Amino acid sequence: SSKIVAIVGRPNVGKSTLFNRITESRKAIVDEVSGVTRDRNYGKGQWNGVDFSIIDTGGYVVNSDDVFEAEINKQVHLAIDEADVILFLVDVEAGITDLDDAVAAILRRTKKEVILAVNKVDNNQRIIDAQEFYSLGLGELYCISSMTGSGTGDLLDHLVASF
Ligand code: GDP
Ligand code: MG
Repeated sequence: SSKIVAIVGRPNVGKSTLFNRITESRKAIVDEVSGVTRDRNYGKGQWNGVDFSIIDTGGYVVNSDDVFEAEINKQVHLAIDEADVILFLVDVEAGITDLDDAVAAILRRTKKEVILAVNKVDNNQRIIDAQEFYSLGLGELYCISSMTGSGTGDLLDHLVASF
């Protein structure tokens, strides 16, 4: 069966923008039966001929920084349980925040595959700024702009190769 990828990260980093780009015209949002998972969007992606499922987590947050760390942590643990690959998204405009540190601490301990992507790298200057995210201790990072699509091809190459 196809692999499951979950996008995690604090609010506003661009998870839904990336989800929409990856699921482009293939978007198949599953209608929740009970409503308990209404905070997660499920879609289908395909890259290099490889099909996968993708989850956009944390949709319950309405572009607010006022979010409990516990809520993010819950989403990350759900993602670890449910997904084969965790796509951890951070935001170069904001830099490393306390919530990023909290998520990274959980992800450093999981045996699941974790891929770190630095979003909003809309221009070359921001590639330099993005290097600070190496300090999260998650290894290689992928600079992307979910808005323009820059870098997302390399990210998806790596993602499907990790299956
Ligand atoms: P989420 O809360 O993590 O799902 O983030 P959203 O996808 O809702 O995006 C939050 C904000 O960041 C929105 O205003 C997006 O338009 C913006 N955004 C997303 N991706 C990019 C990007 O690559 N570059 C820039 N400059 N803004 C982005
Ligand atoms: Mg969202």
